[in-house]
Amino acid sequence: MDMYKNFIGGEWIVTDEYQENRNPANYDDILGLFPDSRPEDVNQAMEVAFTSYELWRKTNLSERAACLYRVADWLDTHAPRIAEDITREEGKIYREALQEVKRSAEHFRFYASLGYLGGGHTYPANESQLTLYSMREPLGVVAVITPWNFPLSIPARKIAAALTAGNAVVFKPASETPLTAVHLTRAIEESGIPPGVFNLVIGRGSRIGDVIVSHHRVHGVTFTGSTEAGFHIQRSVSPTCRTQLELGGKNAVVVMDDADLDQAVNLVVKGGYNLTGQACTGTSRVLVQESVYQSFLDRLIYATSNLHVGDGRKDGTDVGPLISAAQLHSVIDYIHIGIEEGLPLLFGGTIMDQGDYQKGFYVLPAVFAPVNRKSRLFQEEIFGPVLAVTPFATLEEAIDLTNDSSYGLVAAIFTQQLKAAHLFADRVQAGMIKINRTTTGLAMNAPFGGWKHSSTATFREEGIEALEFFTREKTVFMGWDL
Ligand code: NAP
Repeated sequence: MDMYKNFIGGEWIVTDEYQENRNPANYDDILGLFPDSRPEDVNQAMEVAFTSYELWRKTNLSERAACLYRVADWLDTHAPRIAEDITREEGKIYREALQEVKRSAEHFRFYASLGYLGGGHTYPANESQLTLYSMREPLGVVAVITPWNFPLSIPARKIAAALTAGNAVVFKPASETPLTAVHLTRAIEESGIPPGVFNLVIGRGSRIGDVIVSHHRVHGVTFTGSTEAGFHIQRSVSPTCRTQLELGGKNAVVVMDDADLDQAVNLVVKGGYNLTGQACTGTSRVLVQESVYQSFLDRLIYATSNLHVGDGRKDGTDVGPLISAAQLHSVIDYIHIGIEEGLPLLFGGTIMDQGDYQKGFYVLPAVFAPVNRKSRLFQEEIFGPVLAVTPFATLEEAIDLTNDSSYGLVAAIFTQQLKAAHLFADRVQAGMIKINRTTTGLAMNAPFGGWKHSSTATFREEGIEALEFFTREKTVFMGWDL
């Protein structure tokens, strides 16, 4: 069996304890043994990152950029192999995995050039012979902690932005997807980035998470994951350490009676079931205007029943397995909660464990309707292929229902009325608004992040805004009256 290591100070380093990682489509398929790192491994990585930081920060922008371009090229060259391993490790279908590799390479190219733009300002001085300006400097050592659902693209966008700004990185990937992290590390190893600037520590969040985020060498923690873990991190960091936390979602789609229903159904299915519903921006609540409610529901159930659930490596699969047995049980628990709450389960929701499915974590995508706003299925993040459909009468009511959530990551509306679209964008409490588009997907050149419990009220990801997190301002008073 393949045995993998941590990457610290430019070397692949063994640790004392290891854990297996298995394919969620077939748990007999073991991907390898991966480090179950200890606090000592974290300390080692932090010290190396700290000493390497000064060298990287002083490296020319063009040299830093060249390294990032080489990371992108390596990912592109090895894309089919990496995508295959993402599917084997995470379960998403191969086509989605390949897109993820391409998008990750694009992020490294994007941030390679953005490094030239993260400057400061000059200000009018209130004295003669004084020049007043600000400049932006890297933070130092940044901790990157990521979830399993986008095991390459979430780390890529954080690490590319951190490195281009001149920071050193200690990266802890999700325990479910260490092999993808090893691929990304190889790309960085081959790129010419000096040893110690980037370090990989594989291990359980419950064992080394606190050690990482409260480490005295860390000046920034960029985290994506559950709201619970994110809030815990926010409480654990020192007051001098900044955070960027991207958390859970309970995203609503509103379908108005003038919407193109086929387009709306298509994009609700895509948003709700791609990645087996395990996307933070996934569609979870569907609010449909009463006059088209039944017609929409009929089409949605038809489209859902036509999806093929299976191994993501097989042609023709639309929906892969869930990531783990724990995630499968959590989704099934929510199906039972819905039934106990008296909600009609119109389609799916059953475990698939016969024949080809018996060694994977499969569930048939589910539709509940009508779902009332008090229901836990309306309020809580399920992170699986379960749609809660709710009828509404007016746009006012739809906006009120959309905002009736502790989350505020993304919300979408399907309509042809300009006024409805603008009102929705104006009144909905979410970090991202989509008009006639699915809830999933982002633009790497525009800010990404949520409101309420979907993010902390600190820094955005993506775009030039991401560099605000990875750099800090220094103001210089330059007197020249000598
Ligand atoms: P998770 O359990 O919070 O884990 C995320 C990462 O945090 C993993 O690397 C995990 O390590 C680590 N971790 C866990 N406890 C920690 C602690 N106390 N201190 C430091 N690190 C800790 O989330 P997940 O199950 O991987 O991902 C699903 C969640 O992520 C969903 O809620 C989803 O909405 C959210 N998500 C949000 C976005 C966004 O951009 N807003 C994007 C994707 C996913 P282990 O794996 O070892 O436990």
